[in-house]
Amino acid sequence: MDDDALTFLLATAEQLGATKARIISPDLVSVEDTLADFCLHPQCPFWGQSLSCPPYVGGPEEFRRFLKECRYVLVVRLEIQACSLLGEERPEVMRLLHELVAALEIKARQNGFSNAAGFAGGSCKPCFCADQPDCRAVTTIKKCRYPNQARPSLSGYGVNVGKLMESAGWSGDLFTQENDEQEQFSWIAGLILLS
Ligand code: SF4
Repeated sequence: MDDDALTFLLATAEQLGATKARIISPDLVSVEDTLADFCLHPQCPFWGQSLSCPPYVGGPEEFRRFLKECRYVLVVRLEIQACSLLGEERPEVMRLLHELVAALEIKARQNGFSNAAGFAGGSCKPCFCADQPDCRAVTTIKKCRYPNQARPSLSGYGVNVGKLMESAGWSGDLFTQENDEQEQFSWIAGLILLS
């Protein structure tokens, strides 16, 4: 059963726009406390701005527990022009990643992995709620405005995303080597814990 479901999820990832997708073992995901510390020192402008980032997430300790509980990890990568990652389009591009991992989480839950959990990169606040004064999920309302689209950031859990790329068999270099910046490519990545 697992093989069919995993094959389906890999195909679905590509249909939904992933440039690359791979299933890896949970023990190949590296979680490092020092990486999660970077959210606070130096302080990310989005620290404390949404439920999906520190201090509202359980950090490396919680993620290590998640990994122990899951059977497989679906890793997805979107390859994009570097200029779109570094420029004004960044929130839109990061939103695509959130939407991709959320959609795959939902598909995984429907196909045998009832506790699947998706994780994206970067804070959801600038991607979804930039025009809102606050994250609704941390107010007394306690409800995310985009429950089927926004997902927690891997950064706050200390996941080493460069190593994750290598574990999936891909380059961990953030930029390709073209001299012309306009032709450089980069990537963003997320994962779905399958349990
Ligand atoms: S309400 Fe907005 S900022 Fe808060 S978790 Fe949801 S998408 Fe993120």
